[in-house]
Amino acid sequence: MTQSDLRTQATEIHEQFTDQLDLTVEDVEERLDTLVNEYKVPTDEARRSVVNTYLDEAGMDRDQLGGGGGNEQVQAADVDAPEEWVDIRAKVVELWDPRADAVAQVGLLGDETGTIKFTKWSKSDLPELEEGKSYSLRNVVTDEYQGRFSVKLNRTTTIEELDEDIEVGDDSVEVEGALVDIQSGSGLIKRCPEEDCTRVLQNGRCSEHGEVEGEFDLRIKGVLDDGEDVTEVIFDEAATEELTGITLEEAKEMAMDALDTTVVADEMRADILGRYYTVTGPTFGRYVLADEQERLTGSVDADELLIKARSI
Ligand SMILES: [Zn+2]
Repeated sequence: MTQSDLRTQATEIHEQFTDQLDLTVEDVEERLDTLVNEYKVPTDEARRSVVNTYLDEAGMDRDQLGGGGGNEQVQAADVDAPEEWVDIRAKVVELWDPRADAVAQVGLLGDETGTIKFTKWSKSDLPELEEGKSYSLRNVVTDEYQGRFSVKLNRTTTIEELDEDIEVGDDSVEVEGALVDIQSGSGLIKRCPEEDCTRVLQNGRCSEHGEVEGEFDLRIKGVLDDGEDVTEVIFDEAATEELTGITLEEAKEMAMDALDTTVVADEMRADILGRYYTVTGPTFGRYVLADEQERLTGSVDADELLIKARSI
């Protein structure tokens, strides 16, 4: 690493702390230089270490740290890594009710490429965003939870309302095929009741919160096979009910009568396995989340799929 690279890094770090700490670029450069050239610490690590030192000194959280300008302008669908400082132009598609005092606003932002969740912290002291309005948001931080990305607005974020109305694209996909497998964790399941957790319980235990009193839910994790590819599809309670005609209440009754929750998945399996469906919905990691589904009749059959498969 050359001295001018060190200088550049030092300048960037310095910029992030100018409001909070009495620092010179030289101070920062010296620290970096010691780590990199004397202790042979990799540059990334050295930078992280120096930033952490200053965060401690300033009594700040990483969340409060500015990107120092020059962020990449991203689109909703481009966000694919956590902890990146980015700028985004998007429309507020939906606002949800915040479930914690620390959150001032939470909802969905959208642009031409699709949608992404956003969170605005109460302590960030930012103006209210309005549903249906488009904004330029600078200095937001990306985050990831269970494979799904979001952006967080923080104290250093700037919000500018735009005159234009950003068109929000559809990130849904459509898959079609035979339902060839229904995976474990389908049917009548129990979820962790802890706030923001909702993990599916295994033998009454949440992997995060241990033994808890679970809440019943319906879900199907299925595999659609179109003869070329297989796609994993998740049907939530409403989609499962539509798919199988079994409501959550009915499922609970079935389980109570049999003293066994697995009867529900068995019953569902008998009804839907091997049938053909078209499923439309957004992708979440490797899954398609079923928003809409249609059972196909007559037009496709197993022979036809086999013929198609052989012809490829
Ligand atoms: Zn939990």
